[in-house]
Amino acid sequence: MVFEEFISTDLKKEKKSFTEEFKEEKEANENNINNNLLKEELQEKARIAELESRILKLELEKKELERENLQLMKENEILRRELDRMRVPPLIVGTVVDKVGERKVVVKSSTGPSFLVNISHFVNPEDLTPGKRVCLNQQTLTVVDVLPENKDYRAKAMEIEERPNVRYEDIGGLEKQIQEVREVVELPLKHPELFEKVGIEPPKGILLYGPPGTGKTLLAKAVARETNATFIRVVGSELVKKFIGEGATLVKDIFKLAKEKAPSIIFIDEIDAIAAKRTDALTGGDREVQRTLMQLLAEMDGFDARGDVKIIGATNRPDILDPAILRPGRFDRIIEVPAPDEKGRLEILKIHTRKMNLAEDVNLEEIAKMTEGCVGAELKAICTEAGMNAIRELRDYVTMEDFKKAVEKIMGKKKVKVEEPKHLEVLYR
Ligand code: ATP
Repeated sequence: MVFEEFISTDLKKEKKSFTEEFKEEKEANENNINNNLLKEELQEKARIAELESRILKLELEKKELERENLQLMKENEILRRELDRMRVPPLIVGTVVDKVGERKVVVKSSTGPSFLVNISHFVNPEDLTPGKRVCLNQQTLTVVDVLPENKDYRAKAMEIEERPNVRYEDIGGLEKQIQEVREVVELPLKHPELFEKVGIEPPKGILLYGPPGTGKTLLAKAVARETNATFIRVVGSELVKKFIGEGATLVKDIFKLAKEKAPSIIFIDEIDAIAAKRTDALTGGDREVQRTLMQLLAEMDGFDARGDVKIIGATNRPDILDPAILRPGRFDRIIEVPAPDEKGRLEILKIHTRKMNLAEDVNLEEIAKMTEGCVGAELKAICTEAGMNAIRELRDYVTMEDFKKAVEKIMGKKKVKVEEPKHLEVLYR
């Protein structure tokens, strides 16, 4: 019994210790599992956070790329349009010369020849008045567009000087001409009331004629300066040759500008190019000249003689002028500006040597004698050339020898020029 009891107690003890051991082991296992789970959960959370931040980053990148894509698409569109524009063949610019029937016009292309062409249905035929600039299709030359009025060519066609720097003292040998120009232009501008009191109309314009380089432009500039008038210079030949089809419009513009800038003097150089005797020939060019002349006459008739716009015309060929331009009320004073005589040449030489450092041996009287037939522009060239001769020899004063060489050179050129026609005659015979 005691033995049995002993065994039973022992077993109980062992059982107890085993149970406790098992319990401890179980607890330890449970703790381990819990710890692992916690670690895994934490790791999972960290990964989620990392993924979320990557998503955010990718979303930002996506937005950035979308913006870039939009920008590139815009650029692409611009380049595509530019390319389309480059592929379109250029249009030819022309000027309407005449209207023929309802839907046809004669145009002068900017390259020179005139064509009879159709008007596209997109263009209103009413807009196509002579002188309008139009765009022509390259192949059919159909008028496809009308160019807007371009005011810019005004500047190109005219030379405008608010206050020219030429004084009467700068003009040599033309006292009589200066006197006459002063009477006709200066007096009406400065004292219009005198003419009113006396009851006569002052001339609207004067015509200066004479060989090139005799000082016609100088005269006009000097009178503009003296009367504080704006000097507007246009060249007749340019009006009809350089600005094809725009001559008449330009004349209108010139007078408009002259009125805006009044008092003013319009100086039309080479007026024979627009005012030559009219013929019955009806070539495009002749019509152009006629239209320009008609416009000039209309403008001259349209303004008040006592007003403050005066016109000075200049020509080397008075013999070919249309009588209409010389009628009273237009260019009713004609003044000859001849090549200077010896006295005139001396005066011109004095003017152009005013600022030159001359050696004592320089005798201007002798140079004036030597330069028979030279005009003012040539005398000026002689003075400049003499100065150049001195500079070539590194001198700061000009000698008589320099002048003699210059006279030889300039007069030599003159001779070649005179002989030219004979030479050509021989060639063409
Ligand atoms: P064109 O018929 O070729 O237009 P133009 O008669 O108008 O010639 P200007 O332009 O006035 O001649 O003259 C050209 C230059 O010659 C002037 O700038 C001036 O320096 C000189 N000149 C001409 N004539 C004279 C003169 N009488 N007195 C002083 N200088 C003169």
